Amino acid sequence: MKKIIVAGAGGFIAGHLVKELLKKGNIVRAVDIKPLNEWYQVFPEAENLVLDLRLRENCYKAVNGYNEVFNLAADMGGMGFIENNKAACMISVLINTHLLIASKDCGINRLFYASSACVYNGEKQTDPNNPGLKESDAYPALAEDGYGWEKLFSERMCRHFMEDFGLTSRIARFHNVYGPFGTYDGGREKAPAAICRKVIEASVTGKKEIVIWGDGHQTRSFMYIDDCIKGIQDIMYSNIEEPINLGSSEMVSINQLVDIVEEIAGYKLERKYDLDAPKGVRGRNSENSLIRHYLGWEPSIPLKTGMKKTYDWIKEQMLQDSESKKEISRFNK
Ligand code: NAD
Repeated sequence: MKKIIVAGAGGFIAGHLVKELLKKGNIVRAVDIKPLNEWYQVFPEAENLVLDLRLRENCYKAVNGYNEVFNLAADMGGMGFIENNKAACMISVLINTHLLIASKDCGINRLFYASSACVYNGEKQTDPNNPGLKESDAYPALAEDGYGWEKLFSERMCRHFMEDFGLTSRIARFHNVYGPFGTYDGGREKAPAAICRKVIEASVTGKKEIVIWGDGHQTRSFMYIDDCIKGIQDIMYSNIEEPINLGSSEMVSINQLVDIVEEIAGYKLERKYDLDAPKGVRGRNSENSLIRHYLGWEPSIPLKTGMKKTYDWIKEQMLQDSESKKEISRFNK
């Protein structure tokens, strides 16, 4: 039985990770800056702490007496958020710096750091027919401004804490993760959840149009949360000392993603393209030779399967939300 800290546990991916680590019988300390009632998932069996991990003293409180750290805490969101909040994204460097220092000082055995495909050189992502980004494509460095540079810097800090202080770290570069218990509105949501929400809204209200950011030809790959949670643990307990891709290689255009959601909903919409909206790079995919080499595995849950589960969960949330709004307005009358 290990004593494990999960940072960012009130968020999407780390919430699922806490669930899995508890299921395996570990002792888990879950930490997030958000008040507990805003966490996507809360598990009473875990020790749940509300702490701002940008502060060094809070990082000591978080790691003290524990053995391992999974660091998934970051001020982040989809393209709409990271393009308009570059400074906020870069301030996550305080979380990563102070967690590394506290982990070194408190004798943490192993630390996982959640990096991102946003570290990759933008010039290698100008073609929608992206052949897949291999790990070496992060250099020469030309990361996504703000968020991507911070991730690349923090990856490098992990490496030097390992080299200079012997703090074992493992780093995965996530490519778009999606699934239930994630953000689907409010400005931080990513494309899969945003498209589900828009199609659900339209199908419920009878609206005939959907607004798509960009021209719809930009490409991405999307990894279902179950693959992500397996990959995080397999990488954490592997001997992989370099940052490694953790993503699906099933690349689709945004138009194809909308096709999938429309098929799930059984509802077709007329597409309007907002060419001024944040749209990110032109083409991005995960090249998975390295993870196949090390783990004999790669994320493989088909997009259609994962999107169906995600769509159903978001629809349920939206219906519950509209029911409770109706309740409140009935109560206020
Ligand atoms: P999320 O926003 O749902 O979760 C991040 C959590 O970190 C949030 O709950 C937030 O409150 C918490 N946090 C922010 N600042 C904090 C602070 N100062 N102290 C403590 N907690 C703080 O995001 P997610 O999608 O679950 O992402 C988890 C990690 O994976 C992040 O590091 C993110 O950059 C990385 N990542 C995610 C994706 C993706 O597609 N979701 C892709 C690439 C990388």
